[in-house]
Amino acid sequence: MTERSDDTHRFAEMALAALKATGLSATPRNYELWFAHAEGKNPALSAHIQKAMDETGKVSQEMADKLYDQLVQHNDISNDVINLVTRFHTEVTDLWDLVEKTGESTSGHNKELTNLSEQLRESTNSYPAVGTLLEGVLSVTKNMMAENAKLENRLAASAEEVTNLQRDVEAIQAEAMRDALTGIANRATFDRSLDKHMNEATEANEPLALVLSDIDHFKKFNDTWGHQTGDQVLRFVADVMNSNVKGKDLLARYGGEEFAIVLPGTSLENAHMLADRIRNAVESRRLRKRRTDEDLGIVTMSMGVALLREGESMESLIDRADSCLYAAKRAGRNRVMDENEYEALAQTDEKGVA
Ligand code: GH3
Ligand code: MG
Ligand code: MG
Repeated sequence: MTERSDDTHRFAEMALAALKATGLSATPRNYELWFAHAEGKNPALSAHIQKAMDETGKVSQEMADKLYDQLVQHNDISNDVINLVTRFHTEVTDLWDLVEKTGESTSGHNKELTNLSEQLRESTNSYPAVGTLLEGVLSVTKNMMAENAKLENRLAASAEEVTNLQRDVEAIQAEAMRDALTGIANRATFDRSLDKHMNEATEANEPLALVLSDIDHFKKFNDTWGHQTGDQVLRFVADVMNSNVKGKDLLARYGGEEFAIVLPGTSLENAHMLADRIRNAVESRRLRKRRTDEDLGIVTMSMGVALLREGESMESLIDRADSCLYAAKRAGRNRVMDENEYEALAQTDEKGVA
């Protein structure tokens, strides 16, 4: 940069800063006035401005207009140049508003600034008298654009940072909802979902079925084959169950070797059929120890199925499904018992006792 344009640049910035301090708008006329003041080549003008600032801390527009008419040697700046400069200032003001208020992308503004700068440069050829003034304006523009680019980079970096954080939070949330061993929903998710599904079913007046299941004699299996192999079985059972549910159904690990399925919009009969399909699929698979390929035999499951009743609490629904499950255990295991069968059985028992 030459010494001359370096000075112009400095004066332009000083002019803008001093103008801002007066509280006046950065109109082309005011700018020209303060540029002349910053340049220091018009002592009478500077003395007036300095005096007003010292005494009142501001310069009125009326006084600025008077100073302009009386003291500034200006050439005939045509209207279109004035318009261009005005648009430039509007653009800059808009830009800083944007930066302060929203932090949105500034690329549109950069483009607009480039266009205006180009037009200003062309106008300078037609009106050489305003060359000095425009040189300063262009220099400030360039600075402003560099600031824009920096700001845009910072905004892009922040946006990326926020996206990364959001992804981490979502991952942690998803992790907290899952059971680490089987990858299906955990007990906390089950409790929340059941509550939500119960409210939805009540509102929509639709059935809601609950299946509770428990692996038969699993303690013995663990004792025989070891806890790790037992874990392998839990994963196998979860996989079988998972491949038999869909849509809004919710499969969860309810406890150690207990699994639950919430089935929205499903009748007792259909829930029973689904439970029996899973029970059958588990029983049908001959298991092998992963490392040694040893034959582990088969595992079986018992299941209880209940349908949500009007106004029933979550605890009551779970209790009734649990009663069905233990009735299935008592009846010999490896079977599904729904609440209708359970009640029929209870009545038979009563008759038997009577
Ligand atoms: P039942 O047919 O009456 O259900 O008999 P059970 O032996 O399956 O029932 P019980 O409730 O007495 O035992 C549950 C066993 O489940 C105890 C424990 O060895 C096993 N278990 C619970 N959680 C886990 C786990 O995370 N991993 C493994 N490997 N075993 C577990
Ligand atoms: Mg159990
Ligand atoms: Mg068990």
